[in-house]
Amino acid sequence: MQNEKLRFLQRVFGHTKLQNNGIELNVRCPKCTPPNRRDKLKMNIRLDKDLYHCWVCDLKGRNLGRLIKMFDRSAVHEYYDKFSNFRFEKIETVELPVELPDDYRLVMENLWDPEACQIRKYCISRGILDSLIWRYRIGYSSNFKFRRRAIMPSFDREGKLNYWTARSIDSSNDFKYMNAKASKKEIIFNDIDVDWESDYLFIVEGPLDLVKCYYLNSTSILGSRLSVDTLLFQEIVRNGMDVILSFDPDAWKKQATTADLLCSYGVNVCFANTESGDVGDLNPKDVVNLYNNKVLYNNQFGMLKTMIERL
Ligand SMILES: [Zn+2]
Repeated sequence: MQNEKLRFLQRVFGHTKLQNNGIELNVRCPKCTPPNRRDKLKMNIRLDKDLYHCWVCDLKGRNLGRLIKMFDRSAVHEYYDKFSNFRFEKIETVELPVELPDDYRLVMENLWDPEACQIRKYCISRGILDSLIWRYRIGYSSNFKFRRRAIMPSFDREGKLNYWTARSIDSSNDFKYMNAKASKKEIIFNDIDVDWESDYLFIVEGPLDLVKCYYLNSTSILGSRLSVDTLLFQEIVRNGMDVILSFDPDAWKKQATTADLLCSYGVNVCFANTESGDVGDLNPKDVVNLYNNKVLYNNQFGMLKTMIERL
């Protein structure tokens, strides 16, 4: 296996040098060394622990898949499936039929209908403008259960419906959200919109927060937990993604434990939180600013250090 792994890494990194009794592999650093400098092998990989560290620019990590992704995106899955130290139990998916109400229709295609106009009015009051209503396929239904609810469908990467959530437009309604009867662990909300070849994934709590993340590669955990046995967690690790967490201010503890868990799997985690209020209260450009001002989470010192750095 070790030989096979070595051959794989040599194929990915090209010019390499094995040293220290075969425990370390030196390769070119993708960050500080241009591809034509094949003689400069300053990136050091510990083959037994899958750690990497560049002696020049200090690029380092505990997730070799992340470094591989910087060289050859197409090799990342092969690395995780064959050689990674991180193993997951396969998630048993229960194929529950997820269905939208029969008369589900897009709000923006039915603006002649007063019911659609009510949903649109609510969306606009939340800063969800027409382009976003289109983009997130927000729809409605006259079915009694769904009346006066903004329905947001979710599709898997093959384009198959895997979830929906329906938000009441009436603040007096105690049942804010109605959700599809599918396990949140087994789905990634609007996986169809996620670019797994990207370097990062921006994660928010609620679906209405997600709408504001239009410019970012993003998904929502639907108010649930990002635990190791969720498809989302496993795909983050398997695709060598960096993660930016932007949970609501009242969920800072959940954000910190989620960050610790991701870090334990070698994922680089950043925080991007608003001073006050939720991501859902911002406009999409403000969310980009939030992303640009993200702070690297340092799990050695935990939440405290990250909070101090923000001051
Ligand atoms: Zn470097």
